[in-house]
Amino acid sequence: MAKIGINISTGSLQQQDIIVGIDLGTTNSLVSIIYPDTREPVVLKEYDGSTLVPSVIHFGDSGKVTVGDEAKEYLITEPFNTIFSAKRLMGKSYNDMRSVSSHFTYKIHDDNSDNLVKVQVGDLFYSPVELSSLILKELKVRAEHILKTPVKRAVITVPAYFNDAQRQATRDAGKLAGLDVLRIINEPTAASLAYGLGLKKDETKTIAVYDLGGGTFDISILRITNGVFEVLSTNGDTYLGGDDFDLAVLSYWVEKLKIDRSLLDANKNLLQELRLKAEGAKKELSSMPDFYSEISGSPISLSRSEFENLISPLVSRTLTSCKNALADAQLSIGDIDEVIMVGGSTRVPLVKESVENFFQMKLHDSLNPDEVVALGAAVQADILAGNNKDFLLLDITPLSLGIETMGGLMDVLIPRNSKIPAKAGRQYTTQKDGQGSMRISVYQGERDLVKDNRKLAEFNLSGIPGMPAGLPKVEVSFLVNADGILVVTAKELRSGVQQAIEVRPQYGLTDAEVEKMLEESITYAQSDIQVRALVEAQTEAEQILGTTESFLQKNKSFLSDSENETTKQAILKLKQIIKTGNKDEIHAAIEKLNEISRPYAERLMDEAVTDALKGKRI
Ligand code: AMP
Repeated sequence: MAKIGINISTGSLQQQDIIVGIDLGTTNSLVSIIYPDTREPVVLKEYDGSTLVPSVIHFGDSGKVTVGDEAKEYLITEPFNTIFSAKRLMGKSYNDMRSVSSHFTYKIHDDNSDNLVKVQVGDLFYSPVELSSLILKELKVRAEHILKTPVKRAVITVPAYFNDAQRQATRDAGKLAGLDVLRIINEPTAASLAYGLGLKKDETKTIAVYDLGGGTFDISILRITNGVFEVLSTNGDTYLGGDDFDLAVLSYWVEKLKIDRSLLDANKNLLQELRLKAEGAKKELSSMPDFYSEISGSPISLSRSEFENLISPLVSRTLTSCKNALADAQLSIGDIDEVIMVGGSTRVPLVKESVENFFQMKLHDSLNPDEVVALGAAVQADILAGNNKDFLLLDITPLSLGIETMGGLMDVLIPRNSKIPAKAGRQYTTQKDGQGSMRISVYQGERDLVKDNRKLAEFNLSGIPGMPAGLPKVEVSFLVNADGILVVTAKELRSGVQQAIEVRPQYGLTDAEVEKMLEESITYAQSDIQVRALVEAQTEAEQILGTTESFLQKNKSFLSDSENETTKQAILKLKQIIKTGNKDEIHAAIEKLNEISRPYAERLMDEAVTDALKGKRI
């Protein structure tokens, strides 16, 4: 294990390359480290003892960005430019978010497509990666202030169900915040590490991690074998948590006090006061049998049993998820060796009792449930700090591996620091009608544009049968075997044509070169991400222009003259703006074109449906 010295005169930590653990949460985020003197993980605290940084970002009029408690103050007064729950948007398209977009008070850019979502604040568009990077940047600054040393390297946690794109987005956010993200680990894995599970060799255990926070519930079933964690199943409810307990109490009081609902809708202050009181009652009832207070002069009360009756259906829902998770993992309750409690809402006694009864065992709940994930991230960071470079180069991929996509962008398939053997696959498609071949260029490195990375190989997948653009499905898979050899295979799934190539990514690569490539990726993160955002905006614009123009050609007679004219103008405007090179203006022009085309696209859809129904009549 690496030792960290302390400079007695300044109190700063001497080890320059300290690695922090970060719990980047939906509502709150935390940073933690293994403390040098005690060798115990601790969450970093401000002078006032506060630890949690609310994951809220406020964009002020003058361009001032604030993160944390100060930003939270604006949630109600400036809902359009105060961003919460950015984590829920990571790696998501608008189509993914459509059913839940009413949960957000700010504007999620609706381009009616599978492109990644953006948040619009005033005239500017932010990707979830940029938003998360603002939170990470704030955490970095605070950590540096507390530790009095630069913080450059981190382990960041993500939910076990995060897919590849969401993990990559989290890495990118770290990079943009000036952090070298050594590893992304699953939140339940971190929680297990915090309790010391998975640190012993020859240990095989099956663990259930029950995580009930403010707004989400997750249950994960993990298996640890010789220090390697495997996620057997995950289940949960992305909109169930302590906030729902508060709402249940609030509704109960509204009924009991006979408060008129319309009065409540009109009086947001009263609503907010009731909500805060309800949360206060809930917290107090975690340790006391009764709660007494008053609201606007009227006395209110709540006993623990009343509270338990109110939340019991919600707690039951979490247990149903536990049952489903066990079924998916093909396990029964008796197969679970340990149960770990995570998240602030697991402080509620009824929650603890219910989970204890369900799994029929004592729970791990001695650590602060808000901190346990961050603490585990620090444990992982410490393990990584103790590794030597030879080991790193032998057993993990020292640099990311990926292929070139539209606009010369690097699309990472296997992120750096992945344990080998490692496997990944992704589907791509053609850009032109009748395109018969596809060039696959394989690169290594951390930069966003392939021209700044190291080219490993290139080959052509030919013999793709003529199809309209977007129809062929080309599956590209990467396999790094135990000897460090990378096998890249490309296969067109409809026709079965395939081609493969083998390379040795580490061939001729020195430690110094790896280090330089990593350093440059942090140095140029800001400009890289700007270029990426611009190229992505241009690609999106080209796609939309393509579909709109062919729509116009096919449906000319269906549109009124003025619709035809305004659409043509919007197309012209977008074409001009693509060239000017400002991604925000491109997004605004896309939005404009969408606004114009939406009414007649919907009209056409309605007509098609009516026609289809007509056809059914006998
Ligand atoms: P998290 O998202 O893990 O930070 O969890 C926050 C949730 O935990 C919020 O709904 C809080 O109201 C809730 N919480 C915090 N402290 C307590 C407590 N003592 N008793 C019950 N719920 C709590």
